Amino acid sequence: MIRVRFAPSPTGYIHLGNVRTALFNYIFARHNNGKLVLRIEDTDKERSKKEYEEALIDDLKWLGITWDEGPDVGGDYGPYRQSERTEIYNKYLQKLKQSGHVYKCYCTPEELEEERKKALAEGRPPRYSGKCRNLREEERKKLEEEGKSYVWRFRVPDGEVIAFEDLIKGTVEINVNEFGDFVIVRSDGSPVYNFVVVIDDALMKITHIIRGEDHLSNTPKQILIYRALGFEEPKFAHLPIILGEDKSKLSKRHGAVSLRAFRDDGYVSEAMFNGLALLGWHPKRDSEVITPDEIIKEFDIKDVHNAPAVFDRAKLKWLNGVYIREILDLEDLTKRAIPFFENFGYKADFEYYKKVMEAIRDSIETLMEIGERAKPFFIDDFEYDEDAKKFLEDESGYKVVQTFYEKIKDKDKITKEDFKKITKEIQKELKVKGKGLFMPIRVALTGKTSGVDVATLVEVIGIEKVKHRLERALE
Ligand code: GLU
Repeated sequence: MIRVRFAPSPTGYIHLGNVRTALFNYIFARHNNGKLVLRIEDTDKERSKKEYEEALIDDLKWLGITWDEGPDVGGDYGPYRQSERTEIYNKYLQKLKQSGHVYKCYCTPEELEEERKKALAEGRPPRYSGKCRNLREEERKKLEEEGKSYVWRFRVPDGEVIAFEDLIKGTVEINVNEFGDFVIVRSDGSPVYNFVVVIDDALMKITHIIRGEDHLSNTPKQILIYRALGFEEPKFAHLPIILGEDKSKLSKRHGAVSLRAFRDDGYVSEAMFNGLALLGWHPKRDSEVITPDEIIKEFDIKDVHNAPAVFDRAKLKWLNGVYIREILDLEDLTKRAIPFFENFGYKADFEYYKKVMEAIRDSIETLMEIGERAKPFFIDDFEYDEDAKKFLEDESGYKVVQTFYEKIKDKDKITKEDFKKITKEIQKELKVKGKGLFMPIRVALTGKTSGVDVATLVEVIGIEKVKHRLERALE
């Protein structure tokens, strides 16, 4: 059984890089009928916050990611929060002590900094010298009597080359001398990521570790711990780094990068799913539009690119427009749009919202654009744009609006067809056409020279509002 995990630290709103990692784990799990575990890595007590854990669960669910085990749903291998697993880590530290894989290091931060500087000055990689590696018993005793604090370091076999087959990068070989003896438990007794992640992944029976390339340098350290504890090593897949369009690592400098920001801006989840899946993977078809279900069907981890992925904001927006215009069902789209309507103060019932969405979906790329685009369906006392006013001030334009008003003032209903019929009549009677005919009516009804289809608008807002707006324009 394939088992993968997503292991975020709840120290902020989840950003696109981590969401992409979650997504690829999810897609891989579902494609292979495996299981996805959500594990909360909250060992950093200062920065980890419950509200961020809640937010990340909410954001992942919104995106359509579901997991089979996790802090919220339970499972056979819990607890699923690292802060609740301290005893387990202590037990394995004990094992490493007994097998002699770890030792106490009493070096102070100042001493280590001194060493680091010296190594850099001499052109050596700045790694721990191994000073406390072979302390004699009496030396150790003396340091303890002095009350010196210590960390636990992992004894790295000198010069060993750790090799593994990465499912994306191919063979990776790293000489352990690049990092040297590393800390696994800090002086305050708290265990370090590289240590706990191995315990958790092994005990949670994780078969494939899919994570960002920024963790590649941690992998050999983790492999050493797997071996020291006699755990079976999982397979690794390191996802390509994500760059901004300027080819530097994607960060806040490139604009909002949290999933929440995109949600708030009116991106729909399927478009985000699709867009994020393209960060390192491409479907077989020419088109980049591919729905979540199709992605799960088609995905193969071996097809993930090794080269960096570039996040293209404009493409994501375009993709969002495709989902809004062409893919989502109107009813569903309307449901998702309601919070946006409400935020803009546009109050109506569901059927009305639905009609508005039908009228504007072709002209928006995000639900946030409802604010501007849906305005004529809700606001009667709008301002007239400067460039629009002239169509009403103009004599012929005024006449068009007046004639239109005359023709509808005694009606109690108006449809698209009525609108078309009436405008044709005006065209004949006043001998105006094109802009001269439609602009004055548009401006009278919306205050603008462009926007929504006027025939549709008229039908949706209904005769009374049409009369009111025309009267206002004729004042
Ligand atoms: N908590 C780590 C992170 O968010 C997890 C890394 C891993 O997947 O091993 O980067």
